[in-house]
Amino acid sequence: MRILIVEDDRRIAADIAAALEAAGYSAEREGDGENAWFRGDTEAFAAIILDLGLPQMDGLTILKKWRAAGRDVPILILTARGSWTERVEGIEAGADDYLPKPFEMDELIARLRAILRRHGGHASPEISIGEITLDPRRMRVTRAGVPVPLAPQEYRLVQYLMHHRGRVVTQQELAEQLHGDRFERESNAVEALVARVRRKLGPDAIKTRRGYGYAMDDAGETA
Ligand code: CA
Repeated sequence: MRILIVEDDRRIAADIAAALEAAGYSAEREGDGENAWFRGDTEAFAAIILDLGLPQMDGLTILKKWRAAGRDVPILILTARGSWTERVEGIEAGADDYLPKPFEMDELIARLRAILRRHGGHASPEISIGEITLDPRRMRVTRAGVPVPLAPQEYRLVQYLMHHRGRVVTQQELAEQLHGDRFERESNAVEALVARVRRKLGPDAIKTRRGYGYAMDDAGETA
């Protein structure tokens, strides 16, 4: 899943990016407020981590503009320690959760998982479709209870499709989520990845919707 980190402190942004990548997410960074607003308005992210103190456009303004435009991506804001006004304003402006600085990376990841889960409508952190279960806390996928070793990109693919179970995800959306803009046109890479995952999870684990994209769900037609 592709997560945008909006933070002008390069060191903090790099630390968060490393923690996200280690937790199986695909992290992208943006330090300028106006660029961040534009990217959140025009690109697809699974969630956004938003610092409030930013150059060009502050985080609260960005948040209000996104929500006013109907962008419902889950957002975790980073607030100054002890600033309850920032927290209240942030939540009122549509943030899903907040984290006061400084924070532990483990807590950031836990809160991020929680807002992703709530957004996806899943009460339990584990998601099961048929025999296949995804445990995001352990970054583990099992088939009929047996762990299936997946490469990081393979895990990300399964994670994204399972979070969006029952919905057809286009190849372009998958390419963006897995690689960011730079591999936007490489549809072959997504096809190859899907083929590898099918070999590990079973031929019916990921369904192809001809002309639309891919889906993981309990029923329906098969490729
Ligand atoms: Ca800042």
